[in-house]
Parts: sequence; C-alpha cells; structure tokens
Amino acid sequence: MKITDIRLAELKIPLRTPFRTAVRSVDHVEDIIVEIHTDEGAIGYGEAPPTGRVTGDTKGAIVGAMRDHLIPALMGRSVEDFNELLDLTQGAIQHNTSAKAAMEIALYDLFGQMLNAPVYRLLGGSGAPITTDITISVNEPDEMVRDSLNAVSRGYKTLKIKVGNDAAKDMARMKAIRAAIGNEVALRIDANQGWKPKEAVRLLNEMEDAGLQIEFVEQPVHQADVEGLRYVREHVAIPVMADEAVYSPRDVAVLIQQNACDLINIKLMKTGGIKNALAICALAETYGVECMIGCMLEAKVSVNAAVHLASAKNRVITKVDLDGPVLCATDPIEGGAIFNEALISLPDTPGFGIKHITGLRYLS
Ligand code: MG
Repeated sequence: MKITDIRLAELKIPLRTPFRTAVRSVDHVEDIIVEIHTDEGAIGYGEAPPTGRVTGDTKGAIVGAMRDHLIPALMGRSVEDFNELLDLTQGAIQHNTSAKAAMEIALYDLFGQMLNAPVYRLLGGSGAPITTDITISVNEPDEMVRDSLNAVSRGYKTLKIKVGNDAAKDMARMKAIRAAIGNEVALRIDANQGWKPKEAVRLLNEMEDAGLQIEFVEQPVHQADVEGLRYVREHVAIPVMADEAVYSPRDVAVLIQQNACDLINIKLMKTGGIKNALAICALAETYGVECMIGCMLEAKVSVNAAVHLASAKNRVITKVDLDGPVLCATDPIEGGAIFNEALISLPDTPGFGIKHITGLRYLS
C-alpha cells in the first residue's frame, strides 16, 4: 500500500456553548484535516486543532509543517514500512506536535485498514467502551452551577471544572457547584496554570477542609515550574495531575524522577501522536502512575484515535476526558467511535473507522 497523495483541508464546527478556560475563550472547533491517499484507494484521516495558546501550534504552523516537512518525508512511501513512517514523521521537524499527531493518526488509520483490524486491536485491546467526564467552562459561579446541573441531567457522573482565572472566586465556584450537585457526582478541577504555588496550596487545602471532595487537580501552576508543582503535591492531599507540563515521554520521566506529580494527562496533540503516547503509558505503568487521556477542542477524527488508545490501554489510562465531540453542536464526521454523552463505544471497523467528513474546505 503506497502513499500517492496527501491533502489538507479546513473543518469548522460550531460549539453548543462558548468554551472558556483561564487562558482563552472560543465558540468554534477549527481543525486542519489531513487525508493520506494510497494506490489501493484507502484513505487515512488525521486531524489537528490549532491551539496556539496551548501548544504554540497555529493553523499556519500546522499547514507549514505539513507542506514543508511531513508531506515530503512520507510521499511515495509504503504503509508496510509502518515503524519507519512513524520515525520519519517524528524526525521531519522539531516540535509541531499537533501536525505530527494528525499525520500519525492518518498513518495508524491506514495501517489498520491494511491489516483489516481496528487500531484498538493492533494495540492489544478488546474494544471495551470507555466513560468520559465533561468540562464545565470557567464563568460566574451561578452560570457554572447551571452548566453543572445540566451536565448531571445528561448523565455525566464526573465533571471537570475549569478554574484558575480568578483565585478569589474559585473557592466560591467550587462550593456552589458541590452544594448544587450533591456528593454522588465526582468533581475534578483544572486550573490551567492559573495559580502560584502557595496560592494553590492555600486554595486546595481550603477545598479539602470544606469537604468538597476534589478527585484531583490538573496543572495548578505554570507548566515550566516543576519545583512549584512538586511543592503543591507535597503540601496538599488532593492528587496533582501534570498536563501542560507534559508533552514528551522525557517530560514524564523528569516529573516522575522529581516526584512532582501523582497523575499524567496524555493528549495526542502534545505527544505528537500515538507512538509517544504509548511510550508514556509504558513509563507510567513502570512507575505505577495512572494517566488520564484528554483532548484539546477537537472534533471526532483525532478524539476517536484517543478513544482507541484509551480503550486498549485502560489499565494505565484510568481516567478519560474526551468530551470534544459532545461539546460540538453538529457532527459532520461519519464513522468512528459512538459518542453517547458519557459513554463512548467502538465499532469493529478497520483502522479508525472514519468513513466520510462533510464540509471540508480543501487547501490548494
Ligand atoms: Mg488541562
């Protein structure tokens, strides 16, 4: 199976409601879709969301990395040389993890189609369904209470609450939400680097003392502040998860060696795809550290790939935050995982199972 063409396209999907974190506010998912065409007619699909404020990968950077580096490295190559293609993808350019992830996802899709097996099976999984949380955007406390109650009424048993843009309000937000939803629903929080280490310790201990039952806190301090992350971990009982601090397997090794976190958040757009995500899983498993799998604001092509990985590696990926598709108002992507609110199930189709995407605007 030979690669004969690689096409790029834009895909824009409106969100149900604007998505707000400590660093940004958006009302659409905007993606670059990659299609790898082969001489046997098979098409592999990948997806990269431009998240310049998070990964540094803008739309222009993704397209430039694809056109100038990844596409020339892969054009004319055989899918049979799969591991070599993954190495070529990772080695074609520094950084640019979103573009690499999109290309890897399309390559895994083709590899699965070539072997007539779903990717979860190639990874040793049985295709077990997974359960995701849903993210509640950071807003005024009463608005967050309303959004939380709505999520619970839709069947979500775990809410991920965005905080960190105003430390003075964060305690009020969490108290109001816990009071409204009761104690049966799990609450995890994500400060998106929004706190200083001492501020994080004070707030988290206040939440603990108030009996808010926080499952874990994601990235309380700046991504470069490994010592700050360890300081928080050492001074609070609530488990600490690294997100923006972790891109590569090497980042994970450093954080584990420094005892800086309890949990790791894997996102394909940070790792540069599945190969490095698998390396992180192996490291985490070796050290007994559990992982969550998360996503950016992404549509179903790339989140579907994360679902295959999470299902296959469910012994180490014990927490799932793959709510990108359910935050979208429409679904232009046919095939792949079935997102039924919190429950995500996988059909037995080869590769990643994406059949068709409507509304693509091809880039010439
Ligand atoms: Mg996060």
